Amino acid sequence: MQPTEQSEHLDEKDLELYLKAQLSDASISAIDAHLGRCQQCVDELAEQDRCLAYLAELGAEENPGGAEKWVYPRVATDEPASLQILNPFSAGK
Ligand SMILES: [Zn+2]
Repeated sequence: MQPTEQSEHLDEKDLELYLKAQLSDASISAIDAHLGRCQQCVDELAEQDRCLAYLAELGAEENPGGAEKWVYPRVATDEPASLQILNPFSAGK
């Protein structure tokens, strides 16, 4: 367990909302200010951006209504193939 001294870093959820433009102007300004002095969070934001774009692409092609509907419900969750699908960062897209 780590001490809480890194609490000033941006939350993954905040970054997601930031990318989706679902934050108030004040929150966006605070995040912009943090991104201006923290490369670590800039990298995190870039990863989130890729992830969201990837998921949006999947959703648009396969399932416009949302991600809760599985195309292959009988695929076992512990199969390596499904692990790759669940990990967009290694998909190279
Ligand atoms: Zn940070």
